[in-house]
Amino acid sequence: PLLQEPAPMSENAALPQPLHDALLQLLGPAGLLTAASDVDPFCIDWRALYHGKCAAVLRPANTEECAKAVALCNQHNVPMVPQGGNTSMVGGATPDNTGKAVVISTTRMTRIHDIDHADLTMTVEAGVTLKAAQDAAAKEGLLLPLSISSEGSADIGGILATNAGGNNTVRYGNARELALGLEAVLPDGNVLNLMRKLRKDNTGYALRQLLVGSEGTLGIITQAIIQLQPAPRSRETALCAVADAKGALDLFAAFRKQDPSAIQAFEFMSGTSMALVNKLIEGAPLPLSEPAPAYALVELGSPRGDDSLRSLMEDVLGTALEDGLVTDAVLAESEAQRQSLWMIREEHAEAQKRAGASVKNDVSVPLAAIPTFIDEATKACEALIPGIRVAPFGHIGDGNIHFNLVQPEGADPKAFLAQDHAMMDTVAAIVRKLGGSFSAEHGVGQLKTYMMPEWRGGAELETMRRIKNALDPKNLMNPGKIFPAA
Ligand code: FAD
Repeated sequence: PLLQEPAPMSENAALPQPLHDALLQLLGPAGLLTAASDVDPFCIDWRALYHGKCAAVLRPANTEECAKAVALCNQHNVPMVPQGGNTSMVGGATPDNTGKAVVISTTRMTRIHDIDHADLTMTVEAGVTLKAAQDAAAKEGLLLPLSISSEGSADIGGILATNAGGNNTVRYGNARELALGLEAVLPDGNVLNLMRKLRKDNTGYALRQLLVGSEGTLGIITQAIIQLQPAPRSRETALCAVADAKGALDLFAAFRKQDPSAIQAFEFMSGTSMALVNKLIEGAPLPLSEPAPAYALVELGSPRGDDSLRSLMEDVLGTALEDGLVTDAVLAESEAQRQSLWMIREEHAEAQKRAGASVKNDVSVPLAAIPTFIDEATKACEALIPGIRVAPFGHIGDGNIHFNLVQPEGADPKAFLAQDHAMMDTVAAIVRKLGGSFSAEHGVGQLKTYMMPEWRGGAELETMRRIKNALDPKNLMNPGKIFPAA
């Protein structure tokens, strides 16, 4: 269930003394945290829904330390919870409340080893934040084409372990498409070195792709080789008012018809969600003359430095305005304006957090089904909980909608969250009917394990279990995530 009651950290189980001593010798005091005040922040998720406990937080400084620490924990049968930036939306990086597990944090593994201009790659340790990696690429005139609102905290290990998506998936794919090479410590402490910069390498199973999206259940990602792109030399960004999701999709189709490769991002925001941002986030007023039922944020990019992109943007928007598809629009005239338009989009999760309790449905459906999905799911949720604020937004160009449900104004958050499964199941039934997925990019974590048998049961879940069992027969690596209790 959502919203666990916090447990006092003093109830943490202690590490077995021989393990404690061996870890202290291996990692030093900076790498082994045991005081309740030190480990507490690692045991609560970003949404403060899950309050776990742990015996210690291990902070290895490199792969070798990580491998030795994992081997020691395995010998002592201590469960391990890998953690990066701790921004999971599904409680994926939070330990359970037995206090027996250790959190293994990558926050000290922050070296960027190499940026290769010939192969267009970056070799990084897992604890480098996505933002730091993006900035390092940008300094070299390159683009790390993955962008999410949590990029200041989420790190390379975390984004690969969750196969993060985000704003640029529509153009460059998910984290999976960017992972050229990877290194991971397996649950027994062995190091799986797949750090190859090859775009063509058909030598058996693509094991790196097994680790990508495994949510810390198969091992700890310690390093990666990330594919980069040449940085776009021109960019055009516009916020457009539209009537609804269908209007946003029609606008997306209009851009795609002209030049699909120019679309770097295409985001949807409902009027309800936008209003929360405008009201609750300082410095984020609506930059249009009046509120609209829905909005699209479109960004085009091109390696050409000429004004062809501006023409494309103006042509498509001009026609859309004439046809009434778009009722108002603002184009960024400077980098500062571009950033303020993106800030408005990126603050949707934070604004919903400030608006009270919310239930997040990170779903995907085929593009053509999005309007039906939003329409049916809105009606069903409003019937379920009168006064509920249905506030969807998301990466509509990928068919990914964060169909978020915010508590009625003034309602009791706990009473609202007590109905979490009713809301999630109501939405999921419609997603299922339309051929979608109950988790588009956030993963399963511990929040959605209960959905796995119905959605991924039979041979699919059984194959996942066999893989898990082969690599982690003691079920020590991030137990309780992805798989429902047997
Ligand atoms: P954590 O939260 O620390 O961990 C996430 C999972 O990965 C856990 O299961 C953990 O055990 C595992 N893990 C972490 N590090 C490792 C490692 N080195 N090896 C193995 N397993 C590991 N997600 C998107 O996809 N797209 C978005 O647009 C998006 N927007 C977000 C906006 C906000 C405001 C927030 C708070 C979250 C958002 N997320 C989004 C979700 C989250 O940021 C991503 O899932 C991110 O990839 C998690 O990275 P992290 O480093 O914080 O991982």
